[in-house]
Amino acid sequence: MPEQPQILATLKEYFGYDSFRPLQEEIINSIFEGDDNLVIMPTGGGKSICYQLPALLLPGITLVISPLIALMKDQVDGLLANGVQAAFINSSQHENEQQEIYQKLIDKEIKLLYVAPESLSFLDNILAQVTISLIAIDEAHCISAWGHDFRPAYTQLGYLKNKFPETPVIALTATADKATRQDICNQLNIPDATQHLASFDRENLSLEVRPGNKRIEQIIDFLKDKPNDNGIIYCLSRKTTQMLAEKLQNQGFKAEAYHAGIDHQKRTNVQEGFINDTIQIVCATIAFGMGIDKSNVRWVIHYNLPKNIEGYYQEIGRAGRDGLPSFTLLFHSYADVVQLQKFADMSGNKEVQLAKLDRMKQYAESLSCRRKILLSYFGELIQEDCGNCDVCKNPPTFIDGTIIAQKALSTVTRIKEQEPIGTVIDVLRGAQNAAVYDKEYQNLKTYGIGSDISWRDWQQYIIQLINQGYLEIAFHQNNKLKITQLSKKVLFEGEKISLANLKDIEKAKEAIVQISNKTKANTLFEKLRELRLELAKEAGIPAYQIFSDATLKEMEQHRPMSDDEFLQISGVGRQKMQNYGYQFIKTIIDFSAEKTKPKKKKSSKKGNTHKETLSLYKEGLSIEEIATTRKLAQSTVFSHLMKLYQDGENIDLAQFINKADLLAVKKAKEELDSPEGLKPYFAYFEEAVDYNTIRLALLLLEKDALKMTTNDNQ
Ligand code: ADP
Ligand code: ZN
Repeated sequence: MPEQPQILATLKEYFGYDSFRPLQEEIINSIFEGDDNLVIMPTGGGKSICYQLPALLLPGITLVISPLIALMKDQVDGLLANGVQAAFINSSQHENEQQEIYQKLIDKEIKLLYVAPESLSFLDNILAQVTISLIAIDEAHCISAWGHDFRPAYTQLGYLKNKFPETPVIALTATADKATRQDICNQLNIPDATQHLASFDRENLSLEVRPGNKRIEQIIDFLKDKPNDNGIIYCLSRKTTQMLAEKLQNQGFKAEAYHAGIDHQKRTNVQEGFINDTIQIVCATIAFGMGIDKSNVRWVIHYNLPKNIEGYYQEIGRAGRDGLPSFTLLFHSYADVVQLQKFADMSGNKEVQLAKLDRMKQYAESLSCRRKILLSYFGELIQEDCGNCDVCKNPPTFIDGTIIAQKALSTVTRIKEQEPIGTVIDVLRGAQNAAVYDKEYQNLKTYGIGSDISWRDWQQYIIQLINQGYLEIAFHQNNKLKITQLSKKVLFEGEKISLANLKDIEKAKEAIVQISNKTKANTLFEKLRELRLELAKEAGIPAYQIFSDATLKEMEQHRPMSDDEFLQISGVGRQKMQNYGYQFIKTIIDFSAEKTKPKKKKSSKKGNTHKETLSLYKEGLSIEEIATTRKLAQSTVFSHLMKLYQDGENIDLAQFINKADLLAVKKAKEELDSPEGLKPYFAYFEEAVDYNTIRLALLLLEKDALKMTTNDNQ
């Protein structure tokens, strides 16, 4: 079994990460022990590394069963970009291509082989000739009819354990449901698998629910301060996806529709465009997103209410896989509820579907922390309110709603519980329309007693009454409103009722709209993003496969200016350092130089981090001591000092370079005829002198040219 340091070194070298996420290490160790494992982690939790890392250290091949061709290709491309030997076999390939892969397998040139379950049976012959060290079954819930995504081809996978009884199996899924979990283990013949259940909390996703009126206006507003961020808008119908995409295009957004009715080629184009950041917004039915692994989706909007919480959570989970703050917005409308009710009615297991829809509705209508409700659905309890949902950010205040409730409930009674919400409100407000006159409701005692409250507010109040159990919607009788046992207490026993203050809620929504990230055209992050896009286009791979947004953010924050520093960024492994390091470092150096140019003296942009370093330096601490105190890399401290020196601070830089290096750079400068940038020097020294040293020498040569020369000659 590999030792801990070796495992960590592999994590850094191939994936660029310094530490594991929760559960990853435990799972990996269990694989090395030879155990079977079932991993339940939310989308974006980091499942892949749980088998990809062991694959690198185990002697034989890791066989990965994956249901979708697009997903497979994506994973393999990602692995290759990290310098890991991986390949996939599926029906879309040419025979020659497959033969080539078989040969590589036999020659032990492949560590991970991705296979669709349908293709497994063709591989018997070849698998008999190689050592299989690990079998990973991704999206394992597809094996269970209990899950929400059953795939018949998965059901034969149980034979793998019989065929390779000694090989550990790891099954992975994002479905938390207990019945499904046990079913997966049974069907895969791994009844004793260790189950690892990760927290489903995705703290970086903000949660927000808004009433579904004027949705398009709200969306355009929402998008205004996210001009560069990608996102998905989920809709219930194909028609809506198209209508919405068109409206957004008219507003100048790069938006496209995606649904199962669009022809295959066009769908592929949309998907690729989205992955490669050339399409910003995809308006999709739920068909979209399953097969993509894009880590920098920054927001997800639900134009319609989803039919259950599993689906909703999976869909919002496609945002922010890189761990950076991401937004989710759900529009809630009663028309959607009615529509979904009808779907459920027509479905096979109507009771289950209706119960699930009910939970979804409770979530959307909650007046307490939404994350608590979500997580409790997955069997997880959190003590504190989350602070990152709309309710937490703007908790409602309550008013005495007794009179409002009495007016509504007695109106419902007087119209003999024969009308849906809309007509009830019409009667309350004294509307003069056919719905009222046809049935002579204008003669009722309560006609017009609620004319002081707007139509929309009445709707909100009635929804609150429904949620509190004082009214019910009879979905099977054209959505007529019915009174309940509870409402009798209000009508006849004087029970008091609290209702959320709508003025508050309105204000809160406005406030949330205003909390937004400012436009960020000229930041280093944008520059790095542009570079990433350029490199991705050249290489023909998705941008996020070069570096994730999280990695770019770290570059922006730490500004690595040497290979060493660059390698310390989370997400930078050896292969990517070699492929892209120079260009990214150059962009960072150029950007930093640009920003400091106009203010030669003390730059106000210098920021606290430089000031802190400066004050420690002035206290007489060494670079090493400053680095330890500030928990920074020595090279970072060093680059701070150079920066401070450039800004005119009194820093004795000469002490940090030995004469030989200084002279070498001086010589190089002459021979190369004072080239621009650091790369020519780096190349000249065949990478033996690091960027920081070169930069330091050039600084000294430039500023103190004369003095240095005299010193050298002594
Ligand atoms: P899942 O398959 O569970 O949806 P992924 O395996 O695609 O999730 O991982 C989601 C993201 O998290 C990826 O961008 C991945 O590179 C990143 N990630 C995984 N493990 C770590 C880690 N230990 N440190 C930092 N990032 C990680
Ligand atoms: Zn909350």
